[in-house]
Amino acid sequence: MAIRTVFLMKEDCARGERQGWYEFVRDYAPLVRTLLQQYFPTLSPEMDTHVRSIFKRARANQNEWFRNVSFANEREFLMAFRQLLFQYGRETERVPVPQLSLDQVREIVKDLPVTEREMLWLFIKGYTAPQIARMMRDAEHTAEQVKRIADERLKQLLPATTADAFSISARVLMEEAEKSVSERCVALKTFNNIINGQISWRERELAEEHIRDCFNCLDRFTGFQEMIRLRQDAQPLAEAEIEPILENLSLPAAKGKGVLARLFAR
Ligand SMILES: [Zn+2]
Repeated sequence: MAIRTVFLMKEDCARGERQGWYEFVRDYAPLVRTLLQQYFPTLSPEMDTHVRSIFKRARANQNEWFRNVSFANEREFLMAFRQLLFQYGRETERVPVPQLSLDQVREIVKDLPVTEREMLWLFIKGYTAPQIARMMRDAEHTAEQVKRIADERLKQLLPATTADAFSISARVLMEEAEKSVSERCVALKTFNNIINGQISWRERELAEEHIRDCFNCLDRFTGFQEMIRLRQDAQPLAEAEIEPILENLSLPAAKGKGVLARLFAR
């Protein structure tokens, strides 16, 4: 099978060509489902409607989203896609009442090293220890230990709180975290180099020092690892499910088919 890159897909989609949109729906609709389920669970009873709406949003104004999105590799594209999805979800789902503030999370993680803070942030996002271990390519028992420490501290801090206080608060904490963005925040390119091990010790140390104390970068870096894992684990959407989504996008008819084939296509 010929390998078409995400760059070709983007160009096709930006021009409104069917092939690109077909690939986009096939490969990314499963991620839409997973992420909506994870972060916007109240939308899941009408999942198909929301999946269609998100693709429609990317297609709006002559493929405006695709014309404007820029990225250096698929991982960066995944982050842009994640943003599109979160924008949609945040507008569509009511925000749950948070049980925790960012300052309380800061108190809970105060003496934890950067990796453990990343793990804790993924717990807040609602992932389990085995899932986190796979995202961070780390040992499962470390993730479990972090979770135990976090739960204990949560109890000390807010004795009346329930065990799911972290995940109930996730959406609000993430939005708060984004507000702490600054010029010193770490570039996606550096995240990618860290994960690929293509970075000097010094550079890595500097980046991790920043991530450790910056909730925006903690959220982005764990989101980056999360997206890589979700993309690797996602199965392409079944053929029968692709067409109903494409139908909704008013795309030109499929290329390479003769008049007769098109006539008999339905
Ligand atoms: Zn930062």
